[in-house]
Amino acid sequence: MDISIVVPLFNEDESLPHLAEWITRVMKENNFTYEVLMIDDGSKDGSWGVIERLAAENPCYKGVKFRRNYGKSAALNVGFTHAQGDVVITMDADLQDSPDEVPELYRMIKEDGYDLVSGWKKKRYDSKIAKNIPSKLFNATTRRMSGIKLHDFNCGLKAYRRDVVKSIEVYGEMHRYIPVIAKWAGFGKIGEKVVQHRKREFGTTKFGMNRFINGYLDLMSIMFISKFGKQPMHFFGTVGSISGLFGLISLTVVIILRLTHVISLTRSVWFYLSMLFLILGVMLFLAGFLGELICRNSSTRNQYLIEKELLNK
Ligand code: UDP
Ligand code: MG
Repeated sequence: MDISIVVPLFNEDESLPHLAEWITRVMKENNFTYEVLMIDDGSKDGSWGVIERLAAENPCYKGVKFRRNYGKSAALNVGFTHAQGDVVITMDADLQDSPDEVPELYRMIKEDGYDLVSGWKKKRYDSKIAKNIPSKLFNATTRRMSGIKLHDFNCGLKAYRRDVVKSIEVYGEMHRYIPVIAKWAGFGKIGEKVVQHRKREFGTTKFGMNRFINGYLDLMSIMFISKFGKQPMHFFGTVGSISGLFGLISLTVVIILRLTHVISLTRSVWFYLSMLFLILGVMLFLAGFLGELICRNSSTRNQYLIEKELLNK
């Protein structure tokens, strides 16, 4: 199968029939063999009914319905598990992403050898204050922290080699950082394509203001887990040692000064600071140690992503 199109959706029953018609037309025109995986993220409207109808009319259409709303990342993750196409393309359901981009995205993965191609909504049709400006800031930060040169990390329209989606796990609100996750999994050839963006015709946006806070917290966890996820001691141990050492030295100085009657112990602020750093150091060290113990017991501690093998079995 050439292409799997994964569409996460939450209350999009008005858009779905138009989207499906458009996708089918593009696929037919280009003679692709394909499947469309519609992942209904717990919609309360008629979305699932539309999906059932589409699947009955065209066997290329498939659907999964969540019992409740788990979020876009969860929907994508389930779509990735089921996808069978050589190239997997994700697309929002709200008609803001154009299926006409699919053939070129497919070509970039197949012929130019990209692992992942991300869409770039260069001209964006969303509200300036709520979306465009915050998203510039978000993209600049993510670019700096991850070293990936993309303009638009959070674009819903992306194409992947099948290997990539089978090797990564997306949860929480991590869908914003899929290129970062893919890079850390070892898929470094990441490309970008300017894509058409359109105004939302039906329904409203599903992401409110809390996405800013969650977005940054998720970036922190991704960076932390990718760097220290398998060696928590490297982080906690370092910070803990520095703090503990500092506490120990300053406590020694304070005690010497006390013994030579220069200062009184309990009235010196240095005494309390020394104790604080000493205790902090021990606690950080313990956190690192506990982290290591947890890692040792994790069932995935020895799971590595293997690209090629030459084993005579
Ligand atoms: N979506 C989803 N689950 C959610 C929120 C959103 O599956 O909890 C889907 C939504 O239906 C759409 C896509 O994710 O297909 C992008 O959402 P939206 O268009 O609201 O985001 P925006 O374009 O405003 O950033
Ligand atoms: Mg949208």
